[in-house]
Amino acid sequence: MNTRHNGADPAGNLVCPSCNRPREAGKYLCFACWPLLPARARISLKRRDRLALPRLRELLDQIHDSTPLDRIEVAP
Ligand SMILES: [Zn+2]
Repeated sequence: MNTRHNGADPAGNLVCPSCNRPREAGKYLCFACWPLLPARARISLKRRDRLALPRLRELLDQIHDSTPLDRIEVAP
């Protein structure tokens, strides 16, 4: 698994932290992984408030701990 934490491969391309496939700028995960998250987590992660960064941290921590995508929970 890719252990880099800046979300980019050595060439600077954005990659999905879950599967290392390319992802779009501004998206946390690639188009294949994002729908696997629980709906509640997706709604929370799309909110851009002061908890947006801690939520991203929670998401990445769980991915790095090999939590299944459909079990990931973040702050509401
Ligand atoms: Zn992915």
